[in-house]
Amino acid sequence: MFRRDHAKFICDVSELAGLFHDTASMEDFLQKITAMVTHHMDCEVCSIYLYYEDLNELVLKATQGLNPSFVGQIKLKVGEGLTGLAFKEKRPICEGQVKNNPNSRFFQGLGEERFESLLAVPILRGQVGIGVMVIQSEKRNYFFIDDIQILRAITSQLATTLETARLLITLNDQKQKKPQPLADLKLVKGRSGSSGVAFAEAIVMDGLLTDFEQLARLSKPLTEGDFHRAVEDTEKQLQQLQKQIENDLFDVSGFIFTAQILMLKDKGFLDAILALIRQGINPPQAVVGVVGEYVHKFSAIADSYLRDKIYDVKDVGRHLLENMTGLKQHHSDLEDRIVIARELLPSDTIKLFSQKVKGIILLSGGVTSHVSILSRSLNIPLVVADEPGLLSISEGTRILLDAVIGYIHINPLEDTVQKIFDREELHKDLDHLKKSIRSRPHTKDGVAIKLMANINLLGDMKAANEFKTDGIGLYRSEFPFLIRSSFPSEEEQYLIYRRLVEGMPGKEVTLRTLDVGGDKILSYYDYGHEENPFLGLRSIRFSLKYKDVFVTQLRAMLRAGHEANMRIMFPMISSVDEFQQAKGIVQECVYDLENEKQKICHPQLGAMVELPSAVDIINEIAEEADFLSIGTNDLVQYLLAVDRTNERVANLYLPQHPSVLRALKKIVDAAIQHRKDVSICGDMATDPKFLPFLLGIGVRTFSVDARYLPKLHESLSNIILSQTEPLALELLKQSKIERISQLMGIET
Ligand code: PEP
Ligand code: MG
Repeated sequence: MFRRDHAKFICDVSELAGLFHDTASMEDFLQKITAMVTHHMDCEVCSIYLYYEDLNELVLKATQGLNPSFVGQIKLKVGEGLTGLAFKEKRPICEGQVKNNPNSRFFQGLGEERFESLLAVPILRGQVGIGVMVIQSEKRNYFFIDDIQILRAITSQLATTLETARLLITLNDQKQKKPQPLADLKLVKGRSGSSGVAFAEAIVMDGLLTDFEQLARLSKPLTEGDFHRAVEDTEKQLQQLQKQIENDLFDVSGFIFTAQILMLKDKGFLDAILALIRQGINPPQAVVGVVGEYVHKFSAIADSYLRDKIYDVKDVGRHLLENMTGLKQHHSDLEDRIVIARELLPSDTIKLFSQKVKGIILLSGGVTSHVSILSRSLNIPLVVADEPGLLSISEGTRILLDAVIGYIHINPLEDTVQKIFDREELHKDLDHLKKSIRSRPHTKDGVAIKLMANINLLGDMKAANEFKTDGIGLYRSEFPFLIRSSFPSEEEQYLIYRRLVEGMPGKEVTLRTLDVGGDKILSYYDYGHEENPFLGLRSIRFSLKYKDVFVTQLRAMLRAGHEANMRIMFPMISSVDEFQQAKGIVQECVYDLENEKQKICHPQLGAMVELPSAVDIINEIAEEADFLSIGTNDLVQYLLAVDRTNERVANLYLPQHPSVLRALKKIVDAAIQHRKDVSICGDMATDPKFLPFLLGIGVRTFSVDARYLPKLHESLSNIILSQTEPLALELLKQSKIERISQLMGIET
């Protein structure tokens, strides 16, 4: 005869599960279960812990017999305490004298100390862990084998119901904007895509928006005329903003504010507001209502990029309200914020810059992705961190973004903030000193090295000149294309390229032809779906397929280079045939322009070496091309089959891999043998740890983002060139990444 009426109990539970849908609160439902279990098992305590995958923790969700104020507060790691252990090992744990068990874990104030016996049974749906049910008794050795069986039966019966309960609790938590489970997260270690430090409130681009309705509530009664005036004023302001950004970012300004200006011209949008005003609704409230409707509609869009158009609508609404009411909000939604987004396009980055964001946290896109590269040019600190929990950070959470080392501090202590800003002060002084470097870059034993700048935006030229660069080693011509809403005309391109050569009088300027595709998508060009965009219609392949686009660009370049020291290079060359084809088109352009009596240059033509296929035939390419430029960002990606924008394989993106080192040696040897100029223009050149090797194999020209120039200058002055060749030979003999890393002083 059982002490407890098990059969009846199981029946009661199934009845309770049936009542689940009528239960108003999930917490109540769980609480009812714990009360019933303690009653029928004739014990004092029953607790339910649910497992949250994003936290990798068990959270106490209901208890009968323990301190109820600890519900939601007690969090156990998988394997922690007897409860965590039962979950981890997916087996019941039955302990008659808990205090003697070394795995026991007590929380002060929870009131567990007086209970001698414990039975913890994992709640499983198949092999999927949902949580743990724990019962406790004051009496020693109280639970037996039959108790284990019955609790197992109960938990398996409840598993799917509890799983639903967990989901609903999570959704409700989100709706009520309770602190997210992430509240406990203090530090996320990501990787720096663009260096710098920012301390500001967070805003999640995926999330909903800040409240601007209060502007409308504060407003006095206004008229339809006030609304029309606000529309006019807003349009003028947006045009003004557009102009300003065109001045600051001449090359990539595109039509950043077009979407918003269009909104103001949209009859549907304006009529909807007017209809409400004519029904007697105060104009500011009418604006809030219609903007709200649009926000709602956009929120339902699955495409995250389109969904983010919410920010345009909200921004227009904010401008209208401010102009109508005369009341100013201190911030737009994004101003002075650290933006957290799953992904961004380069054009978003420009817009965020214009909206004065303080920093960016991206969940996807590696540190050599083009959004990272662009952020560097715009001086926006950016960290890439593959931590989905960041998207559930509640708006307004204070974030310290240490993009110097790639750390994200959530709600940091004052001390931490102070320390990091103090560190930055020190660096500023160093930067200042480096700016005053007078001599040309050279090694410790006096060999001159050419340090060139990579230019992404015209704005980068200022720093490049301040750091006394020897010229431009790589101009990424695609950025103006990426930002605009259509292909820029020959004239528009000519003006940009001309500014580049005029900004570097007498110095060598190397322009790269369009390198789109991969992570650089033209919004106005329909690529169709590409399963593997990095292996798709990229770079020179695009230019050769769309000859008119290529010809327009080449004509603009050839004209801009008139009486200047300008060179042109083609990205992602994979064969001699491809290079010759591109060269042939340049020759056609030269011929046409000369016939038109245009003033042009006759530039050297180079190949970027960034594909394994080019490495194998490098001798033939070196013979054909006037110069070589090694794009290590892509070369590493393609040699190692590691997507440079995929954080999940970032640990495998290793420029020190022996295949990369040997490929580099082969390329440089070919260039030397054919007496052709060779430079490194990928990010590998920015890391001083690789510098001795690169010098050792004969590289004498480096091209890096301007901000790295002082560091490189300094590193070079500490290297004795004559020692680098034996070191490089030693490294080339190695077959293991680990050993090479050791020799190079790289932590793995
Ligand atoms: C490279 O691949 O190393 C390079 C310089 O080109 P990008 O980073 O623009 O692809
Ligand atoms: Mg490249």
